[in-house]
Amino acid sequence: MQLKMALAGNPNAGKTTLFNQLTGSRQHVGNYPGITVDHKEGLLHYEDQTIVITDLPGTYSMTAYSAEELVARDYLVYNRPQVVINIVDASNLERNLYLTCQLLELGAPLVVALNMMDVAEARGIEINAAVLARHLQVPVVPIIARSGFGKDALLSAALQVASNNPQWKPLNISYGDDLDSTLVQLIETITSESLMTETYHSRYTAIKYLENDEQIQAKGREISPKTAKLLEQLVDKTAEHTNRTLDVYPEAIIADHRYGYIKSLLRQGVVTRKFDADRLYTSDKIDKVLTNRLVGPVFMLAILFALYQFTFSWSEMPVSWLENAFKWLGNLVEARLPDGVLKSLIISGIIDGVGGVFGFIPLIMFMFFGIAILEDSGYLARVAFMMDRIFRIFGLHGSSVMPFIVSGGIAGGCAVPGVMATRTLRSPKERMATLLTVPFMNCGAKLPVLALLIGTFFGENKAKYMFFFTMLAWIVAMLAAKLLRSTVLRGVPTPFVMELPPYRFPTIRGLFIHTWERTYQYMKKAGTVILGISILLWAMMTYPGLPEEVTASFDQKHQAAMAAAPPEIAAELKNKNGLLSDAAKNLNATITSINNEKAETALRQSIAGKIGTSMEPISRLAGFDWRTDIALVGGFAAKEVIVSTLGTAYSMGQVNTTDSQSLSDHLKADNNWNRVVAVAALVFIMFYSPCFVTLVCIAKEASWKWAGFSMAFNTIIAYLLAVAVFQIGTFFNLG
Ligand code: GDP
Ligand code: MG
Repeated sequence: MQLKMALAGNPNAGKTTLFNQLTGSRQHVGNYPGITVDHKEGLLHYEDQTIVITDLPGTYSMTAYSAEELVARDYLVYNRPQVVINIVDASNLERNLYLTCQLLELGAPLVVALNMMDVAEARGIEINAAVLARHLQVPVVPIIARSGFGKDALLSAALQVASNNPQWKPLNISYGDDLDSTLVQLIETITSESLMTETYHSRYTAIKYLENDEQIQAKGREISPKTAKLLEQLVDKTAEHTNRTLDVYPEAIIADHRYGYIKSLLRQGVVTRKFDADRLYTSDKIDKVLTNRLVGPVFMLAILFALYQFTFSWSEMPVSWLENAFKWLGNLVEARLPDGVLKSLIISGIIDGVGGVFGFIPLIMFMFFGIAILEDSGYLARVAFMMDRIFRIFGLHGSSVMPFIVSGGIAGGCAVPGVMATRTLRSPKERMATLLTVPFMNCGAKLPVLALLIGTFFGENKAKYMFFFTMLAWIVAMLAAKLLRSTVLRGVPTPFVMELPPYRFPTIRGLFIHTWERTYQYMKKAGTVILGISILLWAMMTYPGLPEEVTASFDQKHQAAMAAAPPEIAAELKNKNGLLSDAAKNLNATITSINNEKAETALRQSIAGKIGTSMEPISRLAGFDWRTDIALVGGFAAKEVIVSTLGTAYSMGQVNTTDSQSLSDHLKADNNWNRVVAVAALVFIMFYSPCFVTLVCIAKEASWKWAGFSMAFNTIIAYLLAVAVFQIGTFFNLG
């Protein structure tokens, strides 16, 4: 059998020298880039095999930017050599590995020949080939092509790879949020249309589209103009977006992430310098401090705390403005509309429901702004880098970090893209463990609940409590992951290399666009989905209404109270002009309490009220009354609904107050609520079943069985924790 072996590498990495060593021929060494763009072939007889060795033109990259690159790539994909020897210059490792990275992305069966070991040594660079091999997951053999040192070891490693008849398995690296989500879309189209799939993996084609690879684009157009147009439009949209927000094109982002990947790979004990010849880059200098094993995490926590401090203190005023605006609106409708279903719908269903969610827009906006700074500057990638060390302990993979952060690991993300981001994980068990635990993070929908309850019951130091609940989310997620990884998802960990793109100064425009995009998403959801669910829940809290005889008995009580009072006092209350006398105030209080009782009875009798009261015996153990239960059931649809439902429930259960109250006032006044209940509720809300959309997403990514598991697993954990908090807190009288 004839074996095909190709030599690939940067210009002057020593390909031709090695080629001559292996074949015994006398090719001219030191060809200049641009002169020979064709490949040369030679024969090698080794044991009983005949090997055709091809010396590819030297390239720095694998994109069709130059003729050499095109020749090299076309040779690889159309001739499919059983093994590719990638020669890298050990004395210039970082730059040479850029091509290696792309060969891995292409999926070629690789053996890395670490050439010029003599030069590296002379420069005081020590390279640990075994560590490099472990991280790249391909054999790495140190050689000196000029002297022939390591030639046999290289050949036997290459034949070993070839004899396994390897499949082309591409390496996946993450290119950051923006590009990764575009890639998912591109891949979907490419796969479903089978565009060039017999030549390239879908992901590879997708990356090349993002890199503006002209050859691939032209081929795409030739095969299917319609699909090609679709892909190009997607790419253009992304390019426009990154250009607007980050002032770079996708090609540059991709290159940055590849270099980041290489850099972090080299940090993991691959290279040791006996004497430091190179100057450190600014980015590296900053990282010396910010990702330092000891002070790095301290900085990280401090930055997180500062973010919350900034968010809560700067948003306090605008939040109260909005709150007052909704109060004013409520009072206006209260005064203008006649009593009845329409009034109840507008005040209780819409203003008090959705108003609660809208009220937190300033807070959300400040939070998103802070996160945009962390993200655009590249700091978020460092957070992921540091978290990776912790993740291993809990059986998660380094690639799990980004899904956690996307889901709201810092605050205000969403588990849906988080769940989808787990696609970068290659080990199915690590992926499942990640997928099942990312919903524990504090996504944007949980923020209004957190802000409401923290603001109402722990007003003094909101940032501190926000910090505490963020840490709690991580701790519970990690412990749950550990539990899953040591029971249903037991398995060995896989190696991981983290990409660290260089730091960048965020552009003001980029920050505003990122902030606005996310805030707008939140507003849109509140104005559409949440509004719809809120009205539905209002209807469930309104109908079927009180039976006639019950209404009549309350009316009777009302009349009796009025009749029992002296006529001039009753008249004074009816006219209600100016200040009331003490006697009239007393009468007013009696009437109000009768009306409240009537409203509460009506709410209890409603469909939602029945559901809530039927759950009360169980939820009482965690301190929740039936009204909270209604909100928690509603929150299953979307967690923002918890705030809007509480708003509606309290607004409906307490009519005829002289001034419209905010939900926060209601909660403070209700003796079913106190600090312990608030913490128990927060714990439950943070950890119980993922919202419906997330569950659908989990089902799509895994299966409905796992979605069901997630729902049950999370709800049980949440309930147990909430009961523990409530019982212990009540026992020590912390309320
Ligand atoms: P190509 O561009 O990849 O074909 O690289 P060449 O084979 O032409 O080698 C470039 C230069 O590096 C030549 O001058 C070689 O003699 C030199 N060279 C190749 N391998 C080694 C090595 O292992 N050690 C040293 N010191 N020089 C080498
Ligand atoms: Mg050459």
